Amino acid sequence: MIYSCEVHGFSKEDNCPACNEKNKIVLDDEQEKTLGQFVSGALRHFPENAGLSMYSDGWVSYNALMYVCSKRYRWFKKEHMNALLQVDKNRRYEKNGGKIRARYGHSVDIVLNYPDYTLPKAYYGVSEEELDVVLENGLKPIKQKYVHLSMTVEKAYEVCVIHTEKPIVLTIDAAKLMENGYKVMQANEEIVLTGKIPPNYIKKTD
Ligand SMILES: [Zn+2]
Repeated sequence: MIYSCEVHGFSKEDNCPACNEKNKIVLDDEQEKTLGQFVSGALRHFPENAGLSMYSDGWVSYNALMYVCSKRYRWFKKEHMNALLQVDKNRRYEKNGGKIRARYGHSVDIVLNYPDYTLPKAYYGVSEEELDVVLENGLKPIKQKYVHLSMTVEKAYEVCVIHTEKPIVLTIDAAKLMENGYKVMQANEEIVLTGKIPPNYIKKTD
């Protein structure tokens, strides 16, 4: 559910976190889910099927996105897209002038150009079953265009525990990767993107 306060804008709270006035509903749960899935799918996986043309670095026209949403959902209004983007805690999207793109999670063949990662280490969680395979073969993007790493052990654990009961967090030597010419990028405040990572840059976290 996404709400809005006339003065303070969109939030996920029933009452406005700034003035505590009763908010009005902008998107109900069903609409938020439907629109969110379509937007993330269109920007990460199926721009063409959604009727969008995507630049090689993942951008699409913001107006074109709104147009296809309005064709698809009769209830759709411009403010719904603003609402969706403003309450997005995971910072999935990036808007720049008349364009929008997903920051991460792509399966479409794009090339992202984010700033270099600046911390020496990054982290990646695996299941017990995956551990030996990864330590032996390294990591490579499978369904996605990039390997997604986390900046902290805690975050890597949190991401991984969704899929497996007892995550094992691996440490990636990001500094050495970059030293040796691999691209390691900061997509947002939490997510780090790279291509394939050979096994000699990966170890179990102490
Ligand atoms: Zn308010």
